[in-house]
Amino acid sequence: MKINSKEISALIKEQIKNYNHKIDSSDVGTVVTVGDGIALVYGLTQAMLGELLLFPNDVYGMVMNLEVDHVGAVLLGDDTLIKEGDEVKRTKRVMEVPVGDNLLGRVVNALGQPIDGLGPIKTNKTRPIEVIAPGVIERKSVDTPLETGITMIDAITPIGRGQRELIIGDRQTGKTAIAIDTIINQKDKDVLCIYVAIGQKNSTVAQIVDKLRSYDALKYTLVVSATASEPAPLLYIAPYAGVAMAEEWMHNGKDVLIVYDDLSKHAVSYRTLSLLLKRSPGREAYPGDVFYLHSRLLERACKLDPKYGGGSITALPIVETQSGDISAYIPTNVISITDGQIFLVTDLFNAGQRPAIDAGLSVSRVGGAAQTKAMKQVARSLKIDLASFEEMKSFSQFGTDLDSSTVSILRHGETLLEVLKQKQYSPYPLEKQVFYLYLAKNKILDQIKINLVNKFLEHIFDFVTNKHSKILLDIKEKKEITAQNEEKLNKAVEEFLSLYKKDYE
Ligand code: ATP
Ligand code: MG
Repeated sequence: MKINSKEISALIKEQIKNYNHKIDSSDVGTVVTVGDGIALVYGLTQAMLGELLLFPNDVYGMVMNLEVDHVGAVLLGDDTLIKEGDEVKRTKRVMEVPVGDNLLGRVVNALGQPIDGLGPIKTNKTRPIEVIAPGVIERKSVDTPLETGITMIDAITPIGRGQRELIIGDRQTGKTAIAIDTIINQKDKDVLCIYVAIGQKNSTVAQIVDKLRSYDALKYTLVVSATASEPAPLLYIAPYAGVAMAEEWMHNGKDVLIVYDDLSKHAVSYRTLSLLLKRSPGREAYPGDVFYLHSRLLERACKLDPKYGGGSITALPIVETQSGDISAYIPTNVISITDGQIFLVTDLFNAGQRPAIDAGLSVSRVGGAAQTKAMKQVARSLKIDLASFEEMKSFSQFGTDLDSSTVSILRHGETLLEVLKQKQYSPYPLEKQVFYLYLAKNKILDQIKINLVNKFLEHIFDFVTNKHSKILLDIKEKKEITAQNEEKLNKAVEEFLSLYKKDYE
């Protein structure tokens, strides 16, 4: 049988003529190389930065590099499911995560999918993970305290709602403990909390969730977890996903507390991605834009003006240092972005001074606006007293013959440190903090045997709450020690001392 070439060409021409499917070749690309969670894709000439791409087997990727003839994408799923030559489609959407109240009490991954085995999360709202932070017009200065319940922090480095306060220190110095205690202390305070775990062990995150549940804090907390075993892209997007979820609440007028634990590991995951994407390495092999990585994240924490919703996001980023070196690259970056830092020291921690906060190097640049009057009344001289104690201590090591004023400064400093010791998972309410510092300030504790100070404090607090409950309740309500209250408080303290002082001398 002979084939008539004329007939064939007529047939083909006919088919082409009737073909009316439109293919935009710029919307479909081909995988050139894939590996280590990165795919280079040829052909997506219209792709946007941050756009989601759909790979085979329902794996999504996010565009990170726009090159002349290809785009570089990070894969948000298993990269072994993808091979060279696979087809890639544009979604024309930037990366978004589910948001809303139903996320409270849940544990989700960096994509907002539940991983706590409690079933799907019912929410139909999403938010892009990258947005531009509110400008100055939409913002309002910080004016409401965010009480951590940790006396030393609330007294020396007070945190306000909408502030960014860095928690920085070596490994195992109680960084996470401070963040978790702060979350536990937000009970009944109308603050929603988000804990973003970046690059931690699965077991650590599980323990934290367990603790939050047992202290009844999980119901107002959302945990976003990207553990060390997950691919670097998920660690990279986790904090942005977390803050997007926080923004939904903030724009609805709520106060939100978000903890990033920790940004050192976040920077490392970003470095991994950047090196794999062949971006040029800079100092400590971090890419040049590593500052922007954290500045655009932390800029999104703020207090909104009531006209623009009035909510707030308070951020507590955590950074790990190596042998106390706060002048390393990532620590200096984050210190300069935040409004202050709480510096934790291994030596103090090992000496039993816990929380191991260095009073000299810790600051809060928002300061007084974020402190209640009552706290100001008792905490004013605290930092100076601690500083002069430190100075005297190193000075007095050389001599045995000390004059009485030096002895009393040393004694007072030791007592203060004792008052500032606080157990984990036991944040104090305002009135308790104020009462303790009041006793310290008025040198009542200086008469007590140093190793009995804590026992004494518990005893006298019990005594006053039970026998003179009105005084502390009034301080709690007015957030101030009025002259009347001060008189009553002095009387109550005298009564206690006359009864029990002999047990503590
Ligand atoms: P990592 O670097 O491993 O993340 P970290 O700095 O976050 O450590 P934590 O895990 O919070 O430190 O605390 C380290 C240990 O110290 C834990 O066992 C914790 O229980 C204990 N700890 C923390 N704070 C206190 C405290 N105030 N009193 C007693 N123990 C504490
Ligand atoms: Mg930790």
